[in-house]
Amino acid sequence: MRINVNELRNELDGTMSFQWGLLAPEDFKDRIEDIVVTFTAKYTDESILIKGYLSMVYKTQCGRCIKPTSIKVGEKFEEEFRRGSPPQPEETEIVLEKEDLSVDYFTGNYLELDDYFRQVIILSIPDKVLCRKDCPGLCPECGQDLSIADCGCQKESVDPRLKKLEKFKEIIQEN
Ligand SMILES: [Zn+2]
Ligand SMILES: [Zn+2]
Repeated sequence: MRINVNELRNELDGTMSFQWGLLAPEDFKDRIEDIVVTFTAKYTDESILIKGYLSMVYKTQCGRCIKPTSIKVGEKFEEEFRRGSPPQPEETEIVLEKEDLSVDYFTGNYLELDDYFRQVIILSIPDKVLCRKDCPGLCPECGQDLSIADCGCQKESVDPRLKKLEKFKEIIQEN
């Protein structure tokens, strides 16, 4: 998907609004759907400022009970695209780090946004998803889904790593 730069420049205020439906990146085809970006593009001098909101549905499994779970994700984004080519790293290494973190570049009459939006989509993937806020998860002893029924196992509050250590101690003592 791309923006026609001349068209944008000829608009009143150099501003246009867009709403695009996007396809999920190849690697995430089965896990992300209903991607919509709603944004404005504003042309000033030799740069274009993109500002808007991404929404999508992310399908995964609950981080506690591993039930299939989908979650609606919403993320704001903002990026400046300057006309020209990126500066050579060796010339402006320091400047690049400090200032240009959210600056991209475009050449010609079209601003191509596929790569940029792919990044926004991937960065919007949530780290941990729960089927519900208070999901009790699975019993660490028997694997029972505790949101369905309590299994009656005695819950030890011992860290499983410590447990291994305890077993190890036993072995040493036996010998
Ligand atoms: Zn859950
Ligand atoms: Zn149990």
